[in-house]
Amino acid sequence: MFLDEAIIEVKAGDGGNGIVAFRREKYVPRGGPAGGSGGRGGDVILVADEGVNTLYAFRFTKRYEAGRGGHGGGKNQRGKDGRDLRVTVPVGTVVRDAETGEVVADLVAHGQEVVVARGGRGGRGNATFKSPTQQAPRFAEKGEPGQERRLELELKLIADVGIVGLPNAGKSTLLARISAARPRIADYPFTTLVPNLGVAEIGDQVLVFADIPGLIEGASDGAGLGDRFLRHIERTRLLVHIIDGSVQDPLDDYRTINDELAAFSSRLAELPQVVAVNKLDLPGARERWPEVEAELRAAGVIDVVGMSGVTGEGVGDLLRLTLQRFSELPPLEPEVAELPVLRPLEDDPDAFQIEQVGEGEYRVSGVRVERAAAMTDWGNEDAIARFQRILRAIGITSALHEAGVQEGDTVTIGAYELTWYD
Ligand code: GDP
Ligand code: MG
Repeated sequence: MFLDEAIIEVKAGDGGNGIVAFRREKYVPRGGPAGGSGGRGGDVILVADEGVNTLYAFRFTKRYEAGRGGHGGGKNQRGKDGRDLRVTVPVGTVVRDAETGEVVADLVAHGQEVVVARGGRGGRGNATFKSPTQQAPRFAEKGEPGQERRLELELKLIADVGIVGLPNAGKSTLLARISAARPRIADYPFTTLVPNLGVAEIGDQVLVFADIPGLIEGASDGAGLGDRFLRHIERTRLLVHIIDGSVQDPLDDYRTINDELAAFSSRLAELPQVVAVNKLDLPGARERWPEVEAELRAAGVIDVVGMSGVTGEGVGDLLRLTLQRFSELPPLEPEVAELPVLRPLEDDPDAFQIEQVGEGEYRVSGVRVERAAAMTDWGNEDAIARFQRILRAIGITSALHEAGVQEGDTVTIGAYELTWYD
């Protein structure tokens, strides 16, 4: 079971409706229009928070709704804005649109936030439609529906240092030794499935290490879970390469791993490595160590440490050297996707598309026209007349004529099916 992924539904608040009202004053037979506009619907906002470690909470609550805007009132009263809903997610959460797969946000820093569903605009009350030619408009807009979408959350663990090495080289042993017992990691519900993570405290610095099992066992072909593990360490910037110093030919093991890395990912293969020759507590390894070190250096390896994960010898040196090399790396550019990717068509809200979907049946799509349809009070002649003016203004009426629309044909706009009359 992977708990580092979750699918949620978010629904921003609908805008409140505008209303139709007229002023009533004593001795004034017919007051002017005074219907107020609806309030804005609340947004759904995801906030990256260091205090949240997992996506576990999203297993139970799947739907998140922000507040809807209040309706307008008489005397030009504007409806209240709906409440925003802020949902905290762990730092390292990648948010995708579940339908399109498009990355909506890559939340890499504490406090970073993104609006994932935008609240609907309040409908305008009839007071706002008053004009020299229309002194007493008898229609109002409905609120714009709040945006609704399904999102895929994926927690990308951000390890600073990857530990690689053949099976039995001593990766897990090292990781266990260097890991401070941190609840953040202990609480991680899938430590047995993702690369084991460890947080090492070195002086007042902290480095996150990931033991990368499965790399050798066919992971470079994308087989098995290894491939999946490796996505979690895409941002690793340094490798600790462990070799078992007690085997016949440690250099051979060293090359095997490097070949595997190159086959899997050129990025990983190019990362700087600190090479740790392990198991020096064993007499054979101890004897061979000077020779192995010399061979590694001759092969161009600059950072070599001899150690024992069992006794702890050399582990401090390894950590200090790793931290040193890590701090020399250029700072990581946060991979922040353009925030937010919400309404791609919004580039040109007036843009629209007309498709003929059947005999005498047309479908019109476009941001502005669909929004206008959703905000039209279809029970009100004046509101319908206004919608027709909008169609004309955007150019949809003439485009439909060009497409061959006839009286009585069906024209679908967003969720609304209309019968066409000129
Ligand atoms: P991994 O497969 O790379 O994770 O390797 P493990 O950490 O599971 O270790 C494999 C075996 O080697 C285990 O039996 C460990 O106890 C042993 N081992 C690991 N490090 C050392 C070490 O420094 N000295 C000795 N003598 N044995 C070790
Ligand atoms: Mg292991």
